[in-house]
Amino acid sequence: MAAQNPSAQSSTAQLIAKQKEYIWPCATAYYEHPLALERGEGMHVWDSEGNRYLDCFGGVLTTSVGHARPEVVKAVSDQVGKIAHTSTLYINQPQADLAEKVASITPGDLKKSYFTNSGTEADETAMVLARIYTGQTEIIALRHAYHGRSVTNMTASGHAPWKHGPSMVPGIVHAHAPYCYRCPFNLKPESCAMECARDVEELIQTSTTGRIAAFIAEPIMGVGGFITPPKEYFKVVTDIVRRYGGIFICDEVQTGWGRTGDHWCGIEHWDVQPEVMTFAKGMANGAPIGCTTATPEIADKYPGLTFSTFGGNPVTCAAAVATIRVIEENELPKNARIVGEYLRSRLEELKDKHLVIGDVRGMGLMQAIECVKDRTTKEPDPQSVLRVFEETRRRGVLIGKGGLYSNVIRVGPPLIASKGDIDQLVVALDGAFGSLN
Ligand code: PMP
Repeated sequence: MAAQNPSAQSSTAQLIAKQKEYIWPCATAYYEHPLALERGEGMHVWDSEGNRYLDCFGGVLTTSVGHARPEVVKAVSDQVGKIAHTSTLYINQPQADLAEKVASITPGDLKKSYFTNSGTEADETAMVLARIYTGQTEIIALRHAYHGRSVTNMTASGHAPWKHGPSMVPGIVHAHAPYCYRCPFNLKPESCAMECARDVEELIQTSTTGRIAAFIAEPIMGVGGFITPPKEYFKVVTDIVRRYGGIFICDEVQTGWGRTGDHWCGIEHWDVQPEVMTFAKGMANGAPIGCTTATPEIADKYPGLTFSTFGGNPVTCAAAVATIRVIEENELPKNARIVGEYLRSRLEELKDKHLVIGDVRGMGLMQAIECVKDRTTKEPDPQSVLRVFEETRRRGVLIGKGGLYSNVIRVGPPLIASKGDIDQLVVALDGAFGSLN
């Protein structure tokens, strides 16, 4: 890391003071001393004091092809120079190109997209669509899920800390999560009979009117701490959901665009076909985008009028088209599998060495470490996570956090990560875990 520079330190202090004075305090930042990022390049970012960090969180799995990726920068600046805004009242080439591309890389009959500006909007749009299409209102979501910050999405999320305000939306009930490390039925992998999935039937029978609009779920539960379901989970749940009239909304906001390795979408690992998929985060390498993709039969049921000023914005869509091209040309889903498997094996080594690590899980370049005070009681250890955060930062590496109990470290670097980058991350994590004792 670069030598400390007193004038840069004082301007960082001014920036932190300004943030505190003018930005709502609920916009909480990581680290005791917030990190002000000034620029990025590939796998690295630099803070306002000139320190360089290896970015192993990518702005929450969003910088999918690396910071300031030249192809994406060029697509954005070319488009800004041509026309930067149209609104959905006029059509534009990048939006149509992006929609065509999304149709070609998503599985099954998913074909028609509606573009917005965030994962929240993508999921909200999907839930409205499911209600319109089925004529039903009730939705099954998962405990530990995260779907965004609108009132409907806060309701659908399964985390008290992310729910605010008194007005939760009626008609959303929560099934048990496929959280094997903390199995809600106290089963072990050997005795698992997919109780959490099968319980959805009783949930529908007891907590809804018996006819539902949709089941919404993430293939791997991101904010929940990369909770990764058993292989058969989605097959069992979606069979039940369809028997009760519902469709499957697959929230690929974190798992999409090659993140989980080999496939474009996380759900493709489990051979289950959603009727609706949502994307955001990594789709446009940081340009704000939301995308709800559905089968034509379902998409065509959404009546006019609906409108999004910034939805389908040509600059954002050009960024997404360029991002997808970089992912394709560089076979980044394959890289996510290869480097992800390496990352997983290195994290398992850390688990063998550091008792505070209770579980390591995930797929591809989406791997988590769950920290516990005791491996038998599995009591969550959020304090150790906070200390590992500060220590990895000191060692020049950025990581992420999650889990209902804030005791999960999330690793989600850009998909261009190399094994050398993983080695650097593991040295930092090893040193940080070592410093806990
Ligand atoms: N769905 C999932 C799975 C997410 O992880 C997030 C964001 N963390 C959202 C939806 C909401 O996305 P946004 O923050 O872009 O509104």
